[in-house]
Amino acid sequence: MRVMVLGAGVVGTSAAWYLARTGHEVTVVERQGAAGLETSFANGGQISASHAEPWANPGTPAKIIEWLGREDAPLLFRLRTDWRQWTWCLRFLAECLPFRTRDNIRQILALALYSRTQLRELRRDTAIEYDQLTRGILTFYTDEEELERATTHAGLMRQYGCERDVKTAGECLAIEPALAHAAADIVGGTYNASDESGDARKFTQALAELAARQGVRFHYGRTIKRLESHRGRIISVVLADADGRDDRISADAYVVALGSYSPLLLRPLGISIPVYPLKGYSITVPLEPGDEAPTVSLTDDGYKLVYSRLGDRLRVAGTAEVDGYNTDVNDVRCQAIVRRAFEIFPRAGRPERAEFWTGLRPATPSNVPIIGRTKLANLFVNTGHGTLGWTMACGSGRALADIVSGRQPEPDFRFAGLPSRPRSVLIAKPAG
Ligand SMILES: Cc1cc2nc3c(=O)[nH]c(=O)nc-3n(C[C@H](O)[C@H](O)[C@H](O)COP(=O)(O)OP(=O)(O)OC[C@H]3O[C@@H](n4cnc5c(N)ncnc54)[C@H](O)[C@@H]3O)c2cc1C
Repeated sequence: MRVMVLGAGVVGTSAAWYLARTGHEVTVVERQGAAGLETSFANGGQISASHAEPWANPGTPAKIIEWLGREDAPLLFRLRTDWRQWTWCLRFLAECLPFRTRDNIRQILALALYSRTQLRELRRDTAIEYDQLTRGILTFYTDEEELERATTHAGLMRQYGCERDVKTAGECLAIEPALAHAAADIVGGTYNASDESGDARKFTQALAELAARQGVRFHYGRTIKRLESHRGRIISVVLADADGRDDRISADAYVVALGSYSPLLLRPLGISIPVYPLKGYSITVPLEPGDEAPTVSLTDDGYKLVYSRLGDRLRVAGTAEVDGYNTDVNDVRCQAIVRRAFEIFPRAGRPERAEFWTGLRPATPSNVPIIGRTKLANLFVNTGHGTLGWTMACGSGRALADIVSGRQPEPDFRFAGLPSRPRSVLIAKPAG
């Protein structure tokens, strides 16, 4: 079948790869000059299946109130006169209910664990390089109450089949000695040895190259204006050509993987998905030999920041801002990340050399992505991966390729437009 993937972020490129491996003739359309140049460009780098807990959880509403009015708040709502934003925010609050959070964790974890396995297999099969490190992810806490909550949460994750070990402050330092400067503040942590890190942009571009060698055709620098349908099917994709004229291309099936922009192209077709841009920031600090930067990927839970060593760079990323499609770099928020990063790692390079970046996470209120069929017979979606798009990309791509090929995907996940399965035993171990 001729399949057209719209969008060459980490999600679209992974889907293109698995579709080609399944035997389809694949074309990818992307407005940028290469793959991975928008949200997949400079993210936190974590493959963090053990961080399946979404931002919408029972502890968040109190924190939002605590952070109100702070320009450098880890989670900041800049409310506009945009009913879509308000609807998204209300749904986000509804997802904070304990039973909703539990169900969302189950969904995300099932896909994230599957995805991590797919990534490992892909690495084994292709020897792809992207500054990957397989040293686990350590989450450290500086607040006793947060650590206590994390300890309870780690128990829940274990019930779902995901190891997350509770560590003392001393054990945290043994896992990542570069934390020594913050030793006095750290009260403990949780650690998952199977999680990983790596550069999502390098991965996406390397995978695009491998896919191209397998025959996938990439049309870069082409902006998709709209999708045209007839009698319940997509018949063509309209692209803007250099002179502003419409140019049409078509295929047998279409996959929307346009990140935060997916709802904008689906809406005119009468398809509404609850994806809204959740802006995040990262800083990237070049490192010199002798700099004391971590090599284990870290999560600084109190500040909602993650740290990943990417070769000779330290990436620090996080925070979220609900501010529409605005991608302006806010200096106050960037400096807050620099301050915190150098408080923890005062000898990790030079703060004045930090490069700032911002990206729009394609976020659903629950952080559960939307993968599967739509009401149009030959239109599929693979989007809404929010804070975990890099973590879930390979699994989503593989599952999507199965769905397009008419097969039931492996993970026990609520795929769009597929009959839900009786809940299988994702819980590998009995509670307690
Ligand atoms: C600060 C930050 C830190 C993060 N850290 C992590 C992390 O540590 N681990 C993790 O798993 N995830 C992380 N994420 C989330 C992850 O980066 C995203 O979920 C992921 O990149 C989304 O990928 P995507 O392919 O869906 O979107 P994108 O990468 O945005 O790809 C969509 C593509 O569609 C193209 N496009 C859009 N509209 C059009 C159009 N009209 N015509 C043609 N092309 C179009 C865009 O150019 C783009 O290339 C982080 C995100 C941010 C912002």
